[in-house]
Amino acid sequence: MNTLPEIDDLKSKNVTQPHVIAIFVLVGMCITAVMAIIAFYNNNNLLAAVLMMASFIYFIGYFVYKTFQNTALISVIILYSLYLLMFYLVYTGGVGNSGPLWIFMVAPVSLFIHGFKRGLFDIFIFITIVGVIMFMPTDIIAHPTYNTEFKLRLIYSFLTVTFLSALYEYSRQQSFKHILELTKEYQKLAYFDPLTHLSNRRDALRILKREQARMLRTKEPLSVALCDIDHFKKVNDNYGHNAGDAVLVELANIFSDSIRKQDCVARWGGEEFLFIFPQTSAKNAYIITEKIKQKMQDHLIHYQGQKIKVTFSMGIEELHSNQSIDEAINSADKYLYQAKSSGRNQIHPKF
Ligand code: GH3
Ligand code: MG
Ligand code: MG
Repeated sequence: MNTLPEIDDLKSKNVTQPHVIAIFVLVGMCITAVMAIIAFYNNNNLLAAVLMMASFIYFIGYFVYKTFQNTALISVIILYSLYLLMFYLVYTGGVGNSGPLWIFMVAPVSLFIHGFKRGLFDIFIFITIVGVIMFMPTDIIAHPTYNTEFKLRLIYSFLTVTFLSALYEYSRQQSFKHILELTKEYQKLAYFDPLTHLSNRRDALRILKREQARMLRTKEPLSVALCDIDHFKKVNDNYGHNAGDAVLVELANIFSDSIRKQDCVARWGGEEFLFIFPQTSAKNAYIITEKIKQKMQDHLIHYQGQKIKVTFSMGIEELHSNQSIDEAINSADKYLYQAKSSGRNQIHPKF
């Protein structure tokens, strides 16, 4: 029950950044459309048709993303249609044999869309195919003859751009991982008590709100129990503050080992704990907590050769549908006060 609010969706945004990819598709669609119009005016009808088709594929990609919100699919559509366009430009030479110059955009785009590992793999396959097209004898496939120095330098400079883009992507991913770890750490500090590792008051309230909503929806009972250690000041006075801390840690362990998976125990304040029992009436919460109380009566906490015995008092409240969380906790606190004034080591109301 004591789980952090999910940050996994943040993780998935590392490689695929949906909104940026959508913008990328729109830009790609416009650029290829403009280039198609220019090619058309230059009477290069075949190139114009290919560019127009690429622009149309980007439009379909954007439409697929908007309709199905499927980032994986749109990524594949953009990237591999870009590869096909590049193969075409290398194969035909584009305008004045300048077509191959466009291949440089493949490196950053592949790494951006598919991340470091898969991006590098895609680039490797891409440049191999480009090499095969350019170095294939013209009697096998008819294509413009590029100067050998041009072809070699094109590949060297492409590999340099790939290396720099990969370096950038790698450091971006490392920074993202670091931020994710820091976020987890801060989330832990914000939601968990550092001494007992139980949920703190903020997390208990978050869980209570969620359970209250579930209670109102399902009409199943929900109970809370406020627990305060009896004469805890004496533990500190007699054994020292560190012994008091050790007692709190051991109690937290006993409490969390004694409840069901769906229940929660949180450190509400100094030596106060709050139990949350979903799908449980006050009577059943009493039965569960009475068992824990019995367990504590026979339990000795060992600390640096000393044996410390503690008991607790508790107040239980079953939430009503028209009651706020604050009101329920105040009511549990009143019962806790009754338990204290009736001699401690008790749970109120009694059933
Ligand atoms: P009562 O039976 O009426 O509850 O008596 P009590 O002595 O427990 O009284 P109270 O609940 O008011 O006392 C709380 C004490 O718990 C005071 C404070 O010194 C101690 N305490 C609160 N937080 C911690 C903590 O984190 N570690 C230690 N060691 N002691 C704490
Ligand atoms: Mg207290
Ligand atoms: Mg106390």
